[in-house]
Amino acid sequence: MLVVMEQGATEEQIEAVIDRLVEKGFTVHRSTGVVHTVLGGVGPMEDFDPLELEVMDGVKECRRIISPYKLASRPFRPEGTVVRVGGIEFGGNQVVVIAGPCSVETPEQIESVAAQAVRAGAKVLRGGAFKPRSSPYSFQGLGEEGLRLLRETADRHGMLVISEVMDHTQIPLMERYVDIIQVGARNMQNFNLLKQLGAVSKPVLLKRGLSATIEELLLSAEYILAGGNYDVILCERGIRTFETYTRNTLDISAIPVVKKLSHLPIVADPSHGIGRRDFVIPMARAALAAGADGLLVEVHNDPDRAWSDGAQSLNPAQFAELMQQLRMIAQAVGRSL
Ligand code: PEP
Ligand code: MN
Repeated sequence: MLVVMEQGATEEQIEAVIDRLVEKGFTVHRSTGVVHTVLGGVGPMEDFDPLELEVMDGVKECRRIISPYKLASRPFRPEGTVVRVGGIEFGGNQVVVIAGPCSVETPEQIESVAAQAVRAGAKVLRGGAFKPRSSPYSFQGLGEEGLRLLRETADRHGMLVISEVMDHTQIPLMERYVDIIQVGARNMQNFNLLKQLGAVSKPVLLKRGLSATIEELLLSAEYILAGGNYDVILCERGIRTFETYTRNTLDISAIPVVKKLSHLPIVADPSHGIGRRDFVIPMARAALAAGADGLLVEVHNDPDRAWSDGAQSLNPAQFAELMQQLRMIAQAVGRSL
């Protein structure tokens, strides 16, 4: 149930509607927009007549949300969500670029990548400390040591930090070291983890699962929003299709579709999306042109010797070249970088 309050509705009127919704068994989520306050009531709708609320003072309109996700749907925040973190905005006019290696490996590696990435214009430093690898024999990440290195390096360069959480027991560690918590593609439907991230006060970047539909992605976001954490950034990172030439198929079409269906910001990850260094730049350009609010790009100081995902990692010079190209595209689509 979605209740849009009139412009200038008083706090008493809003409270009265919230009370009525709670009385009827709904859990209420409030979104204060620039013009209207919107109340999202999640709960039993079958026997509820929206007219009951529509006639209340200060109510502009009341309607059922027919999509299975409610709080993630565009009508809940028609003007769009801007996720603000450490002076950076995801979903605003500026496009945010996240860069860094697949895995944090050594102090020298992360320092070298961060120094060059920030010079080229990246705002957020990425790096996995807990790695979800297909093989149990592959490098699994440095764990807490990796998070510490990431934090210290980012602080030296005035960058923010993002890293992947693999299960809910790692949440306290993440809260200590990172600014944005990444949920990887393989955990997009780890509902227990998502529920717990709903109670965290840090933004969550939620990656689309390898075989997840857009609706499933939005339903996973809904888990986090329903827990009270509204700072969710979605990430299109490529899906599995019948095509085997590339590692995945970056679903560029998901970007404008998500923008229509949801108010949440969406970034694109062309590195995992295509899996080959030689195609990352054109895919990044395409994602930005299609409306992505940001990009997540794997960059390594020595990609051929990377401990994970070297084939899809740009070297620093390629990354700097990418940033140059992105600036032109950002300008062409009315955004800044
Ligand atoms: C990563 O960002 O390094 C990663 C493992 O991504 P994904 O979950 O998209 O595979
Ligand atoms: Mn990777």
